Amino acid sequence: MSSPILYIVVPCYNEEEALPISARRLLELTDDMVEKALISPKSRIVLVDDGSKDRTWEVISGLHEENERFDGIKLAHNAGHMNALWAGMTLSAPRCDCLVSIDADLQDDVNAIYGFLKEYAAGADVVYGVRSSRKTDTPFKRGTAQGFYKLMHRLGVEMVYNAADYRLLSRRALEALLSFGEVNMFLRGMVPMLGFKTAKVEYERGVRVAGESKYPLKKMVAFAIEGITSTTNKPIRYVTALGLLCVILGLAMAVYVLVSLFSGHTVAGWPSIMMSIWMLGGLQLVALGMIGEYVGKIYMETKRRPKFILEEHLTSDEG
Ligand code: UDP
Ligand code: MG
Repeated sequence: MSSPILYIVVPCYNEEEALPISARRLLELTDDMVEKALISPKSRIVLVDDGSKDRTWEVISGLHEENERFDGIKLAHNAGHMNALWAGMTLSAPRCDCLVSIDADLQDDVNAIYGFLKEYAAGADVVYGVRSSRKTDTPFKRGTAQGFYKLMHRLGVEMVYNAADYRLLSRRALEALLSFGEVNMFLRGMVPMLGFKTAKVEYERGVRVAGESKYPLKKMVAFAIEGITSTTNKPIRYVTALGLLCVILGLAMAVYVLVSLFSGHTVAGWPSIMMSIWMLGGLQLVALGMIGEYVGKIYMETKRRPKFILEEHLTSDEG
């Protein structure tokens, strides 16, 4: 097998400080891999400017002028991390054999890419970069992140523990991912849906090379909500379950109310009000849950996800 064409996609939002350092490191890495014939000289580093307000685009176009190995993509406005990544993947897919996505701050150890390529050569279509520890994260970030993984697991969303958006996708896995028609997307939940042969490579996560986190608490919360609501309908089921619980409690309440009524410990009007509150409340929740089920179905329908993903097709037909 000749060496594969590797595209490294880097979303950049206001990264004028980190980018010169990380671009140099990525260039050294690709040069080394080309030299060792691990990847083809046609490999590229794709820098996606996600509508930055600083000099990020000047830095990117400068790098592109200097070295043909850098490609630049400029988005017209700040579309968000996931969408910037999606843009880079869409434009790179027709040109590459495999693609690695990595953040511009190089918190993820670039040397793991050697491991990614090894797994790819061994036949893996999806290789996850997995953090071996979260020592460099603040206790708050670590705690909230772990809580989030647990919650998603509870909701039935398959996610690889401690794997962020640092991963390798083969061309066919990439094309399968790009065939998902949804606008609201959560890549960490979608990639495991692909299937294919997967592998994991562990690495130490470090600190940002320069600049500040582009994920303030507000964006983190939005990201978590997006993750839940764009991958699963399960919260709707909880509404129905809660409604049924209320109806059951209402029945118990009915017994209590009737006993009180017949033993004469009530004032007029109390029994009927108590029964209506519990029974009607429960019924309303059940009804909402049922409507929610249909809304959820419409939601999934509008996502236009592929019904199947082809891995291989053995046939003697030519066309
Ligand atoms: N990013 C982006 N658009 C945004 C926010 C972030 O493209 O709206 C990029 C950012 O430049 C970086 C990556 O997403 O390459 C991850 O962001 P960051 O490192 O700030 O997140 P953290 O590591 O703090 O979670
Ligand atoms: Mg970071």
